[in-house]
Amino acid sequence: MADTVSDTYNRRVYPLDAHALTEEQIAVAFAMTSRSPESFDEIARQVSQEKAAGFHERWVLGYGHASVAEHAVVHLAVENISRLAADTLEDNRLASYTEKSSRYQVLPSDGYHVPQELAGQPVLGRVYRAACQRLFQVYQHCLEGCQQYLRSVTPQEAGERENAYRLRLRRIATDSCRALLPAATLTNIGVTANARVLEHAITKLLSSELVEEQDLGKELKREARRITPTLIKYAEPNAYLRHVAQQQSEMAGELAGESGAAALQPSGGKVRLVHWDVQAEARVVTALLYRGSHLGYGELWDRVQAMDAAQRQDVIGRCLSQLGPHDAPVRELEMVDYTFELILDYGAYREFKRHRMQSYLAQPLAVVHGYCTPGLLAVSGLQREFAAALEEAEAAFAQVREFSPSVAQYLVTHAHYRRVLTKLNLRECYHLFKMRVSSQAHESIRAPMFQALELARQTHPSLFQHLHLRS
Ligand SMILES: Cc1cc2nc3c(=O)[nH]c(=O)nc-3n(C[C@H](O)[C@H](O)[C@H](O)COP(=O)(O)OP(=O)(O)OC[C@H]3O[C@@H](n4cnc5c(N)ncnc54)[C@H](O)[C@@H]3O)c2cc1C
Repeated sequence: MADTVSDTYNRRVYPLDAHALTEEQIAVAFAMTSRSPESFDEIARQVSQEKAAGFHERWVLGYGHASVAEHAVVHLAVENISRLAADTLEDNRLASYTEKSSRYQVLPSDGYHVPQELAGQPVLGRVYRAACQRLFQVYQHCLEGCQQYLRSVTPQEAGERENAYRLRLRRIATDSCRALLPAATLTNIGVTANARVLEHAITKLLSSELVEEQDLGKELKREARRITPTLIKYAEPNAYLRHVAQQQSEMAGELAGESGAAALQPSGGKVRLVHWDVQAEARVVTALLYRGSHLGYGELWDRVQAMDAAQRQDVIGRCLSQLGPHDAPVRELEMVDYTFELILDYGAYREFKRHRMQSYLAQPLAVVHGYCTPGLLAVSGLQREFAAALEEAEAAFAQVREFSPSVAQYLVTHAHYRRVLTKLNLRECYHLFKMRVSSQAHESIRAPMFQALELARQTHPSLFQHLHLRS
């Protein structure tokens, strides 16, 4: 019979009902299959929420079987947090996030976070609010100005409705004017995470220096416990995370002290390929030969070493030339890595870090590397207002920085540059470049991603020749 695997055992695939069972009961039902001969739905019938809590206390929290917690999934709606806090929340690569976009929406003038740290600092508090208000005022002003300019140079298309035309121009304007928004700008994020990731995310937030992030950690914990009462119960601030952050900040101070202000200046171009594997091609070719073979890695490696360029090309071509525009290349490409140093504006950085398959390290938000001026603002005659608002924000940043470098980060705008180090494997390079060099991508990320791709291509032309970019 087609739908049976034996006379006694029928294949079954079915959902465990998330309406009838709690997430913690589902997690136990899955965990117990390891020792129990019964079916999942039978196990689930025997597991009350109380039993589930006892199981998790004992096995997950007591004996450290943390992977069980991955079967309990939580959806959390998070509203009105700063983009700075959003960055920390989203800095957990195994969860899923969708965030309000500053490309597709016009943001309200009072939509910024005021840090509680400034509550006892009336002068700094005024400086901070004035800088944010000015940025938002100029944001609104530039939106109007850019749309007027765009109307004068972009004709309405035949058959295009007035509303569609207006939205099309507004979209172009928001893409540029978002440069004025500070990291304090409020945002909304939908988060889907399993309890294991969530516990880690909460721990990181609770360990933050910033009050907003600590408070966010507490609220996430409180609300997530309504879904998974036991699994994230012990998420607490982590002394080790705090210690390392403190050490790194101290060491940065020592380095700056030794080499003076020069250590803080941007060096050279905005994209550098700083490490790559000189044997990348041989590694990929060996990996491509490995999976279908019964030979050992050492033997295959020796054979690849003996191949000429054309033979290696042949192996690569046979496995990659049929790659369609929406296909992910095979896992073998994960065998080689590229490390780039990027200087991205904060807007571009926020898009870049959404790519979760990479390992990235971002330096603190600051104004030391300067800022970019979007071309549209310049041609719309708004450069002076833009520069004045950013300089006011920089002056406020300098004052708040004296009090707290962490709090000052809220005043850094989307136009300001930040340094990021990233390590990507070849497979993720294909995915990232395809998405972020496409015409849909924001110009501020498109340009550096194109430079990164060119550097990688020049280094390893044979490995990138089958990457077909989307238009
Ligand atoms: C034009 C454009 C507009 C965008 N607008 C918005 C927006 O308004 N708001 C917003 O929040 N984001 C937006 N994004 C970001 C986008 O949704 C992705 O989050 C981001 O580009 C990362 O890419 P990725 O999810 O494909 O995977 P990556 O994180 O780069 O990972 C690579 C691949 O691994 C797999 N993968 C990674 N993580 C998971 C996971 N948790 N579960 C299953 N598979 C996974 C997927 O196959 C994925 O394609 C936009 C992106 C583009 C290009």
